[in-house]
Amino acid sequence: MGTGRILVIEDEPKIVDVVDLYLEREGFEVLVASDGRTGLRMFEEQRPDLVILDLMLPVMDGLEVCRAIRKESAVPIVMLTARDEEIDKILGLELGADDYVTKPFSPRELVARVKAVLRRTAPEAAAPSERIVLGDLVVDPERHEVSWRGAPVSLTPTEFRILLALARQPGRVFSRLQLLDIIQDQTYEGYERTIDAHIKNIRRKAGEDIISTVRGVGYKMEVAARAQP
Ligand code: CA
Repeated sequence: MGTGRILVIEDEPKIVDVVDLYLEREGFEVLVASDGRTGLRMFEEQRPDLVILDLMLPVMDGLEVCRAIRKESAVPIVMLTARDEEIDKILGLELGADDYVTKPFSPRELVARVKAVLRRTAPEAAAPSERIVLGDLVVDPERHEVSWRGAPVSLTPTEFRILLALARQPGRVFSRLQLLDIIQDQTYEGYERTIDAHIKNIRRKAGEDIISTVRGVGYKMEVAARAQP
């Protein structure tokens, strides 16, 4: 099921009806505007999670609406285009639309695209306060607690932030500079090797094999640590 609010800016009532029906069936809240200017005003007032935007619209066309939205927001936009609008289609993407669907389209396909775009543009897979469990490692951002193989691990705030960043995206490689960025607003340490010292401390306290070194780059959380029977 989908969650979130979707603004549909489209002037053809038949398309609006079917899109509305399919999106609501999937659990989305749907707002509708039938011309470009109304659509833009509703966008500003309602702040939807995604916009479905027709190219050919009365009063203000889809390209203008897209441009205006992009000036102030990175909200995902899915464009609707007619078959003979190839050029506009490409323009739409250059303007910063995230995807497009060509008319006539199946509502099911549109819903699938909407969900894919929402997944792709979601800021992070895990909510900031969600507890992360990776095999024997448990990181609880809300309580600022870490445990490894059932035993609590005591980390400094800086060590905790590094571990949390790594654990949120297992398998992703972070350079030392990226890790420095993550801790920067808290303490200025200014030198990449500082990260090595923090990582060393995390390993000493939580277990050698939870974080691996990517030579010449930085560090990553071991995905393999996940599968502990
Ligand atoms: Ca139209």
